[in-house]
Amino acid sequence: MTGSPRLLFASLAVATFVAAAAEASGQTLGATPPASVEATAADTIFGRSGRLLARFFAPRRSMEVEPIARLFGGREEKNASTVAVTDSTSGRQMSLITLRPFTEKVNGRVGDYHLGRFPAEKRRPRSAAYENPEGFIEVTLDNKDTPVSEHFRLADFLTHDQQNVWPKYLVLREALVDKLELLIVELQRRGVDAQRIRIMSGFRSPQYNQRGVRSGRALDSRHQYGDAADIMVDNNRDNRLDDLNRDGKVNSKDLRIMVEAVESVERQYPELIGGIGIYRATRARGPFIHVDTRGQRARWGRY
Ligand SMILES: [Zn+2]
Repeated sequence: MTGSPRLLFASLAVATFVAAAAEASGQTLGATPPASVEATAADTIFGRSGRLLARFFAPRRSMEVEPIARLFGGREEKNASTVAVTDSTSGRQMSLITLRPFTEKVNGRVGDYHLGRFPAEKRRPRSAAYENPEGFIEVTLDNKDTPVSEHFRLADFLTHDQQNVWPKYLVLREALVDKLELLIVELQRRGVDAQRIRIMSGFRSPQYNQRGVRSGRALDSRHQYGDAADIMVDNNRDNRLDDLNRDGKVNSKDLRIMVEAVESVERQYPELIGGIGIYRATRARGPFIHVDTRGQRARWGRY
């Protein structure tokens, strides 16, 4: 038996399950911004980029994990919330991760990990994109290096605080990971050597985000919803943006290359549309851009 029909079937299965669940609940799903079902149907289990290596299931969708796992060959229970399956065609391992329900957060905490209160717990959300997340990915010392796609792992997106508290809890949207992978594809298509994108900041828990509000963080920052990342191409791992146009300087011309590539990804995949913020270098840090998949176009910052 060849693997391709199985993969196709798996892709269709995800699309069908997702579409059915969206219809039944009347809301947009976890990872997908207010996208049409049509856009979702174009998705495959490995995402639009073909590079996703983890899919996230809200607790009420956990019954979808088993049928999908059965479509793959190898099935391995990693822990209570993760099933690892292997695609027989490519040999790639995919993690099917069931989220811990949002209701497990009590007094701002899940276990010992402090998340705080989401904006919709305090006031009416301004749109569906600002509703509370459906749940959290539990990140432990054992699973933190689980790949979510070819270039990213769970730990890349964690809030940078509570260093010694485990497990940590993470909100992360598949659409964001997919968009970042598509950005790498697009940069490479444009001849830019983009081997590695560094995520300076991915998920920011509400309590962590709150602490930065006075220094310019948005109260309703998309970072709290797991669909935003502050990024730079950093192949040489010096924590600075690389000289993408090879003119001997790292400056806004290099940022512009990144922004134009994100714009191109949004034109090709309108369902992944979102914000782009431009952050020039300051004395304290190098330049970077913000990208998100909020479902509507937003732009800020100047070169
Ligand atoms: Zn940001």
